[in-house]
Amino acid sequence: MARVYNFSAGPAMLPEPVLAQARDEMLDWQGSGMCVAEMSHRGKEFMSIAAQAEADLRELLQIPANYKVLFLQGGASSQFAMIPMNLLREGGSADYINTGSWSKKAIAEARRYGTVNVVASTEADKFTRAPAQDELKLTAGAAYVHYTPNETIEGVEFPYVPETNGVPLVADMSSTLLSRPIDVSRFGLIYAGAQKNIGPAGLTIVIVREDLIGQTLPGTPTMFDYKIHADNESMYNTPPTYAWYQAGLVFKWLKDMGGLEAMAAVNARKAKKLYDTIDASSFYQNPVDPPARSWMNVPFTLANAELDDTFIKEAKAQGLTTLKGHRSVGGMRASIYNAMPEAGVDALVAFMQDFERRQG
Ligand code: PMP
Repeated sequence: MARVYNFSAGPAMLPEPVLAQARDEMLDWQGSGMCVAEMSHRGKEFMSIAAQAEADLRELLQIPANYKVLFLQGGASSQFAMIPMNLLREGGSADYINTGSWSKKAIAEARRYGTVNVVASTEADKFTRAPAQDELKLTAGAAYVHYTPNETIEGVEFPYVPETNGVPLVADMSSTLLSRPIDVSRFGLIYAGAQKNIGPAGLTIVIVREDLIGQTLPGTPTMFDYKIHADNESMYNTPPTYAWYQAGLVFKWLKDMGGLEAMAAVNARKAKKLYDTIDASSFYQNPVDPPARSWMNVPFTLANAELDDTFIKEAKAQGLTTLKGHRSVGGMRASIYNAMPEAGVDALVAFMQDFERRQG
């Protein structure tokens, strides 16, 4: 068996010890005689798995007691609608920061529910930077401020947490949650699809300050009401049990790795190796303003786009897969989430340098 270094933006690699444990427990989870996927979500076995996963996530992120953690379905894309439905209030407005493709989707969806003010946009700069705090023209009385700390497609990351003067800050952390410590108390709501740093696709994590929920817009479907999920401990209906279980294994793995401080150090080092390689070369290029370069998603182009296919083919032959850039940006993109070993980045760097020597 030869596992590849998979640089996909998501679904992404999972830690090998997590997959191995899931394999070992596949037919019989801890003497239950069942696979976790076969368990009742209301049975004591799954309830213990669910509670442990939440406790470990709370510990890793130091989530304060006045925040609810919800284990939902529907992906981050459903959150683009659930957030205004739950936080906008009738006749209210919300501020959105536009830093890339995912911000734009969130903005378009929110506009279906009320007034959206785009309070800063880097579109004129082709989404190659993060706006500075003093560029944010925040609206007094906005229901919330939404931003995307890490734009997965453009590879742009905020190097700071915006100050919103008491207005709840809502963050799409799909491609950055768990990559480093954060101060959850700075946020009103954090959400993330699981398939990058958390676990398999099908699970969506929402961390929300409890005083913000319970005042949905009229007509909000029951399943889109955070309060319903919070009051039912994410078991109002059948939750994504197997993905929840594997996310729990990932949380345990993160604790074994030394927690989020330790992950941050590794992630910073992995990203630096790639950006240093790109910057040291006249063959590879990354357009993003250095302070806003993503630790998680590293897009780059080759000096000659006609070599793209050869690059991808040769990389794949060496076990370095899914490097093709997003269709809207072109070139390459290396996504290097928590589960990408540093050895995978080292192998990519060596391949890039060798390819440049031969083709550059
Ligand atoms: N936001 C960001 C920042 C993302 O990277 C993605 C997925 N690539 C999404 C939202 C959409 O997530 P999902 O596919 O889980 O709906």
